[in-house]
Amino acid sequence: MEHYICITCGTQYSASTAAPPHCPICEDDRQYVNQNGQQWTTLAELRREHTNEFMPIDPGVTAIRTAPDFAIAQQAQLIQTSAGNLLWDCISFLDDATVADVQRRGGIAAIAISHPHFYSSMIEWSRAFDAPIYLHADNRPWVMRPDDAITFWEGDAQELLPSLTLVRCGGHFPGSSALHWADGAGGKGALFPADTINVVADRRYVSFMYSYPNQIPLSASAIRGIVAAVEPYAFDRIYGSWPGSIVAEAAKAAVRRSAERYIAHIEG
Ligand SMILES: [Zn+2]
Ligand SMILES: [Zn+2]
Repeated sequence: MEHYICITCGTQYSASTAAPPHCPICEDDRQYVNQNGQQWTTLAELRREHTNEFMPIDPGVTAIRTAPDFAIAQQAQLIQTSAGNLLWDCISFLDDATVADVQRRGGIAAIAISHPHFYSSMIEWSRAFDAPIYLHADNRPWVMRPDDAITFWEGDAQELLPSLTLVRCGGHFPGSSALHWADGAGGKGALFPADTINVVADRRYVSFMYSYPNQIPLSASAIRGIVAAVEPYAFDRIYGSWPGSIVAEAAKAAVRRSAERYIAHIEG
């Protein structure tokens, strides 16, 4: 029995004797099936050629990324607080060196993941660090490796650790969530919205999409819902899911300004 991993989206599946026939994450119109057909790998195979890199970003924020790139090449972010460490979002690759490196940084008290594209090998990470996983209940249909380690939270907000709160935004997925860190950005507050609020090339702006690879926009009402969801939270900085995708300051104004610009375009 193997836990197969889709090479296109990086999602790991429940154990099976043969590779699954389909990847519902890739077949969903937010993603795409590999042009060469559905292909699978395993952690054992990945360990022959990959490593994880740790990139300190700010005090208490470290990005963890796989090299060479795998699947959609996102980064996980380890947020270190005096009450324990949170792993925000997840990646497919995990090995003993990564476990040792994270343990040196204080381990992981909890794992929270924004949306299904980053569920990756979450159960492997949970087992390695004995850490519970928090996912929004509205995204439950996209969990491809169900496990007792997963807690499905409901409603609009869930505090995980002191100063760390999950905020349901919707949009990209019904349960798409951001992480708010009240103590982040030197006490001005920081937001980790993944691609629910995606930092774009012009770092003064963000964007909002139903599908990034297939370029399908969101409606004005969905975008207004995202802006309203984060409005009650103070934040000056946004940490995105890919290297360098940071809105360094005045990020809340950037979200408002970006939403207005986007809605003006889609409404003509
Ligand atoms: Zn896939
Ligand atoms: Zn996504």
